[in-house]
Amino acid sequence: MMVLTKKMIEIRNILTKVGQTSALTLPSIVVIGSQSSGKSSVLEAIVGHEFLPKGSNMVTRRPIELTLVNTPDTQAEYGEFPDLGLRRITDFSSIQRTLTELNLAVPDTECVSDDPIHLNIYSPHVPDLQLIDLPGYIQVVGQNQPLELKQKISELCDKYIQPPNVILAISAADVDLANSTALRASRRVDPRGERTIGVITKMDLVDPRRGAAILNDTQYPLRLGYVGVVSKAPQPTGGLFKRGDAGNLMAAISRNENSYFASHPLEFGEEAGVSVGTTTLRKKLMTVLEQTMSASLQATTDAIHQELEEATYEFKVQYNDRPLSAESYLAESLDAFKHAFKQFEKSFGRPQMLEILKNALDQRVLDQLAARYWNKPITDLSVPPHEVDTLADLPRAPPDSLYWKRQLDASVSALTKLGVGRLATTVVASAIQANIDKLVAQSVFVNHPFARQAISEAASSILNERFYSTSDQVENCIKPYKYEIDMEEREWNAGREHVGRTLKTELEQCQDALRNLENSVGGRRKLKEVMTFIDKARRGEVAVEGESKTGAGGFSAALLAKGREAAFLRDRADIINMRLLAVKSKQCRSLTNKYYCPEIFLDAVASKLAATSVLFLNVELLSEFYYQFPRELDARLGRHLTDEEIERFAKEDPKIRRHLEVIRRKELLELVLEKMESLRALEGRAKPLDGRD
Ligand code: GDP
Repeated sequence: MMVLTKKMIEIRNILTKVGQTSALTLPSIVVIGSQSSGKSSVLEAIVGHEFLPKGSNMVTRRPIELTLVNTPDTQAEYGEFPDLGLRRITDFSSIQRTLTELNLAVPDTECVSDDPIHLNIYSPHVPDLQLIDLPGYIQVVGQNQPLELKQKISELCDKYIQPPNVILAISAADVDLANSTALRASRRVDPRGERTIGVITKMDLVDPRRGAAILNDTQYPLRLGYVGVVSKAPQPTGGLFKRGDAGNLMAAISRNENSYFASHPLEFGEEAGVSVGTTTLRKKLMTVLEQTMSASLQATTDAIHQELEEATYEFKVQYNDRPLSAESYLAESLDAFKHAFKQFEKSFGRPQMLEILKNALDQRVLDQLAARYWNKPITDLSVPPHEVDTLADLPRAPPDSLYWKRQLDASVSALTKLGVGRLATTVVASAIQANIDKLVAQSVFVNHPFARQAISEAASSILNERFYSTSDQVENCIKPYKYEIDMEEREWNAGREHVGRTLKTELEQCQDALRNLENSVGGRRKLKEVMTFIDKARRGEVAVEGESKTGAGGFSAALLAKGREAAFLRDRADIINMRLLAVKSKQCRSLTNKYYCPEIFLDAVASKLAATSVLFLNVELLSEFYYQFPRELDARLGRHLTDEEIERFAKEDPKIRRHLEVIRRKELLELVLEKMESLRALEGRAKPLDGRD
C-alpha cells in the first residue's frame, strides 16, 4: 500500500506553512524535457485532463508544483491553487487558463521565474504524486527571446534536479537519445543513473524495432529504466469522449496506446522485456516516489529535528519560553487597557469636568466683557465724562444707574443663553475622547491601527449617542439662571479671587502676543513707530487713504496691519490692567457693588452655570460612559472577532508577529515530527524514542 506518499504529501503541505527551508524539502518527481518532446502530453495523460498551458510562445515560465491527491471515495475531480485562495475549480479548462495567466504574468524581459506555482489536483483517477513541471529546454533561442533564456532555463532546471528528487527525463523517440537535452542534464547531476526515469514519447512515430531498441538502451543505462509511451490522445471522433472527462481521456489514451503496443507483440509484448504504456509509467512513478520517500525518511526526520531545535532555541533565548497566542495577546492587551481605563476613571470626575467647563466659560465671559465693556473709548475728549457711559465711568456706576444695570443684565443673559448645554457637553465629550486617545497612545494598542480605530470608535459612538439628551438635560437644568441669579457673598468672593487670575492670564497673553508682533516686525522701536502713526491716524492727524494696498506714512500695508493689531493689544492690556486694579479695589469687595465689577459678577455666574452643568454631565454622560465603554470594548475587540481578525490584529505589531511565528513554527514542526515518527513506526524501522540524542 502506497500510504507513505500520501502521508508525506500531507507533511509536505504542513512544511510549506512552516516556511520551508531547503533542508526540509521532501522528494518530488521533477519533469524535464526539451520543448515539444511531449512533456505536457505525458503529464496530462497521467492526470487524465488537458490542463497545461499550450501555445507557440514559450508558455511555461514558472515551475508548476503539482500535487496529485487520490480521493478514492468521491467522483469529484477538481483543482486548487492554494496560494491564490481560489475555490475548488472543477473545470479543467479554467485551470488551464489560470496557469496560462500566471505564466504570462512573468515579464518577457525576465523570461523565466523560479517562483513556483502550486497546484493541487484531487481525483479518484490520479495516484498520490508530487510532480514538478519545469519550462522545457530550448534548442534555439526564438526571435523575440533574450539570448540568455537558454541559460536561465537550464539554471532553473538544475536547481530542481538535485537529490533527493527523482528526475523524469522526457525524450521523444524520433530524436536521437544522444541529442536528448533531458538525459544530458540528468547525467550531469545523476551520473550513475540512480534516480532518473527515462520516458520515451512518440513511440508511434518510429519503427517498432527501433523503438524497442531505445527502451533497451545501454548507452545511457538507468537503474529505474525507460518507459515508452504514446501519450497523444487520438482526435475525438463522434463524441467518443468529451474533453474534460478524465476517465474518458485516460481511457482513450490508453486504448490508443495499448492498441499500438499490442499490434507489435514481438517488440513490446511481455516476452520483449520492455516497459511501455502510461499505466505502467504511472505505477512506476508511484513505486519510485514511495521508495524515495521511504529512503529519505531518516534524513528528513533529522532535518526536521534540527529545524525544531533551532526554533526551540530561538523561542528560549529571544522569548524566554514565554507562551503567546494571538488570542491571549489580545485578551491581555485588552485587560491592561481596561485597567488603565479604570485608573483614568478614578482621576477624572466632577472636579476635572468643572475645571474644563469653567475654562471654556471663562473665555465666553471675556468675550462678553470685551464686547460690552472694554470696547468703549476710555475717554472721549469731545464729550463731558458724565454724559457718556465709558469704561472710565464704570467705577462711578451708581447702584441705581439704569445704563449699567442694563449692561450687566444683557451680559448675564448672553452668558446664560449661549447654549451652555451644548457647550458643556462638547467640551467634556472632547476631553473624554482626548483622554481615551492618550490612553491608547500609552498602551500596546498604539502599534495596532485596527484596535486604535476600534477603541476610538467605541468611545465616540457612546459619546455621540449620549450627546443630544445630555445637552438637553444640561440646558434644562440651567434654565432658571436665565431668569434670575441669586448670588451669595461667598460666591462673590470666590468670583473675585478667580477673575483676578483669569484677567492676569489674559493680560499675559496680550503681552506675549505683543512681543511676538515686535519680533515679527524687527524690534520694539519699529513697532512703536507704526503704532504712533496708527494713533495719529485714529485722531485724524494723518491721512491713510488707499493704505490697504500701498501702505501709508512710509509703512507697508502689512506693517500697518500689524501696527493696528498691536495698538489693539496695547489698549486691551491697558484696560485689563485697569480692571485688575478695580477688581482688587475696596469697592469690589462687596456684592452690593456689582455694577462696578461686572467681571466678578459674570465670573460668579459662570461658576454657577458650570457647577450645575457638571452635576448633570456626571449623571448623563460620564457615569454612562464609564459603564458602557468597557462593554463596548469587549464588543469590538473581544469575543466576536474571528480567528483571522485576531491573528491579523496581533500581527500588526512586528515584535508580536515574530514571537507568534516562532511558536507556530515550533508547533508545526512538532506536529510534523510526530507524524514522521508514526510513519517510521509504520515502516517498521522506528528507533526506540529514548535512543535519540
Ligand atoms: P511539450 O512541448 O514537451 O510539452 O510537448 P507537447 O506535449 O505539447 O507535445 C508536442 C507535440 O507532440 C504535440 O503536437 C503533441 O500532440 C505531440 N505528441 C506528444 N506525444 C505524442 C505521442 O506520443 N505521439 C505522437 N504522435 N505525437 C505526440
